[in-house]
Amino acid sequence: MINKPKGTNDILPEESYRWHFLEARIRDLTACYGYHEIRTPIFESTELFVRGVGDGTDIVDKEMYTFQDRSERSLTLRPEGTASAVRAYIEHGLHQKEERCKLYYIGPMFRYERPQAGRFRQHYQFGLELYGESSPWADVEVISVVSRLYAELGLSNVIINLNSIGCSGCRSEIRDTLRGFLERNLESLCEDCRRRYDKNPLRVLDCKNPQCKTIMSGSPCAIDSICPDCREHFEGVKHGLALLGIQYQINPALVRGLDYYTRTVFEFVSTGLGAQNAVGGGGRYDNLVHELGGPRLPAVGFSTGMERVILTMQNENADPQNTENTELRVIALGKEAEEAAFRLTYDLRRLGLRTDMDFRNKSLKAQLRLTDKMNEHFALIIGEAEIKERAAVLKDLAARTESKVSLDNAEQIVKNIRGAHA
Ligand SMILES: [Zn+2]
Ligand SMILES: [Zn+2]
Repeated sequence: MINKPKGTNDILPEESYRWHFLEARIRDLTACYGYHEIRTPIFESTELFVRGVGDGTDIVDKEMYTFQDRSERSLTLRPEGTASAVRAYIEHGLHQKEERCKLYYIGPMFRYERPQAGRFRQHYQFGLELYGESSPWADVEVISVVSRLYAELGLSNVIINLNSIGCSGCRSEIRDTLRGFLERNLESLCEDCRRRYDKNPLRVLDCKNPQCKTIMSGSPCAIDSICPDCREHFEGVKHGLALLGIQYQINPALVRGLDYYTRTVFEFVSTGLGAQNAVGGGGRYDNLVHELGGPRLPAVGFSTGMERVILTMQNENADPQNTENTELRVIALGKEAEEAAFRLTYDLRRLGLRTDMDFRNKSLKAQLRLTDKMNEHFALIIGEAEIKERAAVLKDLAARTESKVSLDNAEQIVKNIRGAHA
């Protein structure tokens, strides 16, 4: 017996309707906002993530699935979706047709992390990207897509954390201020953070080490050192959120675990998973398109872990109804009935009725038991007696009623079933 690799997850047939429900909501909502799907490869050149996500981030340093193919190319299973989307946007010259571009993606991402509830080494993400817009309205639009999504899924305990981490102009001042603070506490920081002090001091704010967290709770805030333009942008974002009635809280410690963010960063935090847990997040990344070889174009984006969203829905009693089960079981008793039943089942399915039929010649009792097990609301019984009159008995199992129907009128059977629960 070979088991699934540690940290991976099988989505079983009995759960997949939740995924279809979530994906359908995503596709409806993104269409309303004018976003179109992009599908990129699951693996990319390792260099894309080293440059895109950034050396010194936990993702690049500790969490990537990197391997050499048979031609000794270094490839990496994508740990996130933004770098790939930007790569494709540049590679296909999408910006040449129209700089402004709105994309979304749904797909698996791979990170070698400690597995925990709703967090897997292969996990699905939904993300969106808006290129070519520098206005704060763009940040607000992206945040509003996500907050609409959570609202439509029935998630009520989701809070938006918002911060600004400045632009390339004011980032060095933010770093210097932070370094000054870190220098005084260097002895007490963990080994990783002492390394980050030189390389990328903002990353220290992200450290999961409890002692580092305690120290950093007293650190100066990036938001106090941002330049006037960044300040104005941040005020614009807050104004836009207020205009749409979207609740948020400022979190000066929020930096997000990726290097590419500029100005706005945000995180959606659910209180529905017990402890506070990020269900999704994103921000602005005005330098990434250029850094990956494209033109100087601003961008803002977001992503959410889909397992976490589904888990949160279950925890908040927002589990969707399963509308994928079969509704009707056709039960044939005897050889002659079987042929008529098989033909009728074909017609009922052709008319769009979710219908099933068993070929194992089980007893009526066994087949009714199966109907119950499959949560089907109707059974159509065709016995030797009925076949002579070209008739069948339609049982409404929920209402505990039954009626005689014609074997030769599949349309009428569908009408009876649709009518019963209308
Ligand atoms: Zn700035
Ligand atoms: Zn640390």
